[in-house]
Amino acid sequence: MRWWIAGTFLLLAVCPLALSAAQARPDEHPLTVTLLGTGSPRPDADRFGMATLVEAGHQKLLFDAGRGSSIRLWQAGVSLGRLDAVFLTHLHSDHVSGLPDILLTGWIGGLPYADRKEPLVLFGPAGTKNMGDKIVEAYSEDIRIRIADEGLSRDGARFDTTEFTTDGVIYEKDGVRVTAFAVDHGDEVKPAYGFRIDYGGHSVVLSGDTRRSENLIRHARGADVLVHEVAMAAPALKNKPQIKIILNHHSTPEAAADVFNRVKPKLAVYSHIVEIGAPGIKPPGDDALEAATRAHYRGPLVIGTDLTRFVIADQVTVQHFDRASAAFK
Ligand SMILES: [Zn+2]
Ligand SMILES: [Zn+2]
Repeated sequence: MRWWIAGTFLLLAVCPLALSAAQARPDEHPLTVTLLGTGSPRPDADRFGMATLVEAGHQKLLFDAGRGSSIRLWQAGVSLGRLDAVFLTHLHSDHVSGLPDILLTGWIGGLPYADRKEPLVLFGPAGTKNMGDKIVEAYSEDIRIRIADEGLSRDGARFDTTEFTTDGVIYEKDGVRVTAFAVDHGDEVKPAYGFRIDYGGHSVVLSGDTRRSENLIRHARGADVLVHEVAMAAPALKNKPQIKIILNHHSTPEAAADVFNRVKPKLAVYSHIVEIGAPGIKPPGDDALEAATRAHYRGPLVIGTDLTRFVIADQVTVQHFDRASAAFK
């Protein structure tokens, strides 16, 4: 993972004193953000599909459920059956293809990674209820068999869906507030939303898929962490019609840098990283993404990788998943 943290932030992020200060208050649960999947539609062994876990208090909230999100959740030690709610930014398949897995694997009985007996609470834009109903219908044989064979509750194999249609607070529970705001993912890709999560005086904003969005900048003001999407193509591909269409739905590094400069988060993070290559043409890679961003933005920045965690307290601490110990360090 590449990351750059300027000035005092570097000291705060890696200094043991910052960690021990957090550990000195074990009764507090800081706002914690874990990048589960940071990828694009490209089937990538390193970057799974888009998904972000936000933990606030005792709540575990999943934002988008892209390919492999169930695997990353369980790697992060979170049972699929334990999610308090799932929130969808929009219904592009790279953001929802892991949803049936979370619903149905999370429903299997008596297993530590599952055992949900209640409906999966789901929030999403218009079309979410229809999609959820069709997922349940598509897997009706699995559901019928497991109810008959394993005695599972029917409730656990369905969604409890709330659709939202305008900007505003869509979830408020035990001090956790989730606000949805429309973003700009292209003229035909509506609705598309981003989210702001506030808890305990701290906040994280998730851009969803978007071009440079003034509405996002408005809603992101004062946020501790801004997780933003980005897309970049190899120079040789930039002007190909199909590539131009893709790039026109996303934020260039220059556009994202502009957003970061105006929001000034304590930490800017890239996720949903679209790096476009072609047979014989290498995708730009993180070095090029760094250089293109750094040409316009000098503040704290992390290029996200799967299972990077941000603990948001008085400072933002960056942790990485250590496979050997199965812990974030
Ligand atoms: Zn999209
Ligand atoms: Zn996407």
